[in-house]
Amino acid sequence: MNLCDVKVVKRLMSKYSTGTKKSFGQNFLINRQIPISIAEESYSYHKSACPNGEAAVIEIGPGIGCLTNELCDCYDRVVAVEIDPTLIPILGETLQEYTNVTVINEDFLKLDLDSFIKEQLGDVSVSVCANLPYYITTPIVMKLLEQARRQDGKSRLTSITVMVQKEVADRLCATEKSGDYGAISASIAYYGRAVKLFDVEPTNFLPAPKVTSSVIRIELYQEPIYSVKSEKMLFRVIEGAFAQRRKTLINSISSVFSSISKAKISEIITKLGFDINIRGEKLSIQDFCSIADEFYGELE
Ligand code: SAM
Repeated sequence: MNLCDVKVVKRLMSKYSTGTKKSFGQNFLINRQIPISIAEESYSYHKSACPNGEAAVIEIGPGIGCLTNELCDCYDRVVAVEIDPTLIPILGETLQEYTNVTVINEDFLKLDLDSFIKEQLGDVSVSVCANLPYYITTPIVMKLLEQARRQDGKSRLTSITVMVQKEVADRLCATEKSGDYGAISASIAYYGRAVKLFDVEPTNFLPAPKVTSSVIRIELYQEPIYSVKSEKMLFRVIEGAFAQRRKTLINSISSVFSSISKAKISEIITKLGFDINIRGEKLSIQDFCSIADEFYGELE
């Protein structure tokens, strides 16, 4: 069964008395080459990073299963989390030939990710792959980065390969050398390397979204590569640096750290060798770590 054939999608929807729901960000892929390419991009990186042992993947929002079945063909184990209860019986039919998949009817944002991975998959290497619902892209990506870590700080995830809106993809993958760089780009750079893979035009979805999409992959560092005294402080500094984009770093950051005087902030910035008028968008994640460590010393 070609789950990207519009007739098949409509027949399944009608058979199970359901339809696509805007409220759940449902735009289903109708060009089979795209889920094939997404699954291949996910699996090839996963295997190059973790060549030994079982390979597992978590899919967020399987829909009627067009990406899920490609993942089942590549990975040893697949866990798919779908919020819409009306799609669960459809997935029961479309994935019936696979014995390596578990479908769970949950809101992904409500899961305790660390225990979920432990319970569902144990200690195998795990990646995430999804055509994400656009209305919650950023909370999902941040949840994956922040919560999928073992107690010793090592990542539980190998990579995150996801389709998002192109404009969001440009921000997620930006470096300090580009105009799209912002708090989320800097935060992602702390956890891994984000690369843009390919664009997908609206005509490849049912219903067609208004904007172009892009597939990106975040290749996660298995252990933190930047040393910082307090991650909490790091993310406060990043937030502060981009709080008022048009202002200099010192002015923007002082709006978030009211307990440190502007004079002290200037002293820290110049001590670290930055221009007094520098803006947050010019700073790399390494620079943010150095500033966060100085702030930590001040507020300890
Ligand atoms: N994977 C399918 C495809 O590529 O055709 C569907 C992708 S569609 C863009 C997003 C999917 O995510 C929908 O099936 C939707 O119901 C599901 N979804 C939306 N919010 C969710 C959430 N909080 N947790 C889990 N799934 C969610």
